[in-house]
Amino acid sequence: MTVKRGLIIGRMQPFHKGHGQVILKTLEEVDEIIIGVGSAQISHTLKDPFTAGERIMMIKRFLAEEDVDPLKYYIVPMEDIEINAIWVAHVKMMTPPFNTVYSGNSLVQRLFQEENYEVKSPLPYSRKLLSGREIRKRMIENKDWQSLVPHSTIEILKEIDGINRIQHLSQKEQNES
Ligand code: NAP
Repeated sequence: MTVKRGLIIGRMQPFHKGHGQVILKTLEEVDEIIIGVGSAQISHTLKDPFTAGERIMMIKRFLAEEDVDPLKYYIVPMEDIEINAIWVAHVKMMTPPFNTVYSGNSLVQRLFQEENYEVKSPLPYSRKLLSGREIRKRMIENKDWQSLVPHSTIEILKEIDGINRIQHLSQKEQNES
């Protein structure tokens, strides 16, 4: 393949500054990047509050704000399937061809290595500061989450009333427990 195309997959619930750093860094190594929005079928839960479409909006607006040429990226929703052994085939079916996979997730690494893909670990971001779990917790507790996400994610969350959604989901869970 003449074009060097890299694949990154993450749930990005929500898209935060760490995801942004990884994408921008990876774009320095490849000609084009495929951003797979993982667990695309899941939304409206405390672990996965935002839909795939909403996460795509966050990523697209971030890349526009960073002046990334739209010809250099693809954003593809990726639904989970039950059978790990054929997941790589499922991913391949949904994406343009790629040569390298960037993932720190050991299952993802193994599944792609077994299919003979080159697998690299992405630039690690600080888990102390940047973590989807921590950001979702802060959203529920009305603490500062804004400093951990790009401006674009704040804008999209306003548009979709995302903070009210996650607080409502948390309230519902408390009422039911
Ligand atoms: P992931 O992107 O590998 O992330 C796992 C954890 O590592 C998250 O807590 C994430 O943080 C953190 N992380 C990711 N990149 C990092 C980095 N560069 N530095 C520091 N920490 C990092 O896994 P994921 O978000 O769960 O995405 C993998 C997707 O693949 C999922 O949707 C999964 O369901 C899918 N998958 C599906 C199948 C199947 O359908 N059979 C099989 C394998 C995988 P944040 O929470 O802050 O992002």
